[in-house]
Amino acid sequence: EKVNIHTSTKSYPVYIGKGAIQQLRDIILDAEESYTSIMVITDETVAKYHLDSFHEHTALEGIVEKIVPSGEQAKTFDVYNDCLSSALENKLDRKSLIISFGGGAVGDLAGFVAATYMRGIRFIQVPTTILAHDSAVGGKVAVNHPLGKNMIGAFHQPEAVIYDLDFLQTLPEHEVRSGFAEVIKHSLISDENFYYWLREEIQSLDKMNDSKLLKFLTKGIQVKGSVIAEDEKETGIRAFLNFGHTLGHAIEAEAGYGKVTHGAAVAIGMLFALKLSTQLLGLDFNTEAFKIWLKNLGYETSIPAGLSNVQLIERMKQDKKAVNNTIRFVLLEKIGVPALIEIDEKVLMMNLKKFVEKGE
Ligand code: NAD
Ligand code: ZN
Repeated sequence: EKVNIHTSTKSYPVYIGKGAIQQLRDIILDAEESYTSIMVITDETVAKYHLDSFHEHTALEGIVEKIVPSGEQAKTFDVYNDCLSSALENKLDRKSLIISFGGGAVGDLAGFVAATYMRGIRFIQVPTTILAHDSAVGGKVAVNHPLGKNMIGAFHQPEAVIYDLDFLQTLPEHEVRSGFAEVIKHSLISDENFYYWLREEIQSLDKMNDSKLLKFLTKGIQVKGSVIAEDEKETGIRAFLNFGHTLGHAIEAEAGYGKVTHGAAVAIGMLFALKLSTQLLGLDFNTEAFKIWLKNLGYETSIPAGLSNVQLIERMKQDKKAVNNTIRFVLLEKIGVPALIEIDEKVLMMNLKKFVEKGE
């Protein structure tokens, strides 16, 4: 499958499928302006499983390798600095290419290296997680600051995204679950048929069939693509992609990053946002059935014990979307019809309590 992404700054292809990595060599060799050198940034886990296969398929001499720690540890200033040092030592110049080979963390890091090295060089995303169907498309790249996640970043679109489903085979189930939450999100904010198709077809995340995987990842990327085509820099509708994320981010931050995966937190956030939507916008939706589906897929459906409601609300207020004493939430008027709603802090507290204490 191929999806074309159009933004105001660049258009680029996303190739999705088993064996898609075979396209990489041609994409590099056919570049309009040829590359003087190439650096691939990957993490220890992805390197262990897949770096040989990556080199085998690219079959290009002299690719510089930069292997960084796995997971969120990749997005620190130190690792970022280290990548820049490697780039300088290996004499990458303004016509060089950076390839990101890994999940969302590596993608965000490598993209930010590419965005800032010599005021910006070209890069290609080769995502290896389900979650990265979301993060590899759209051009948001960042590292973390000790005072906040993703606080230091840029918009820098890739030249291409090559999404080979074979790499997903080594992904642990909890990472599949994390990424699949973003697929559910993409369906809920865009298309009722897509959502009910997922509900029908996906009953387990451990043995995923390739054709279903291809279908929902392609759909998810199309949704993301259509949103950013209209709003690359998040001045308007790109905010809809934050569905489930206001509470989700607060849970992640309060529990401590790494304690719950991003998607696990977003799943709880979506359940809450759906309940709010039925309450405040009259959304016609069976939240109980949704909750049961989530449970069957192995998601937690309540906020981890021990987190304080007051602290969660504080976190939500710090969210980039907050103004005055209201907190901006993405809610749904209907499945596929999101809206950005300002909710009074007190109303939010009342609903959060109900959600925590009674699961309602
Ligand atoms: P990740 O990159 O940390 O990957 C999760 C774990 O899976 C890591 O330990 C990694 O080593 C491992 N892994 C990756 N590919 C594997 C494979 N094929 N087989 C086995 N293990 C593999 O995290 P993620 O969940 O992909 O992405 C999360 C990150 O993405 C966060 O930092 C988040 O901020 C960012 N993000 C960015 C955007 C964006 O628009 N830029 C959007 C959403 C999320
Ligand atoms: Zn997300």
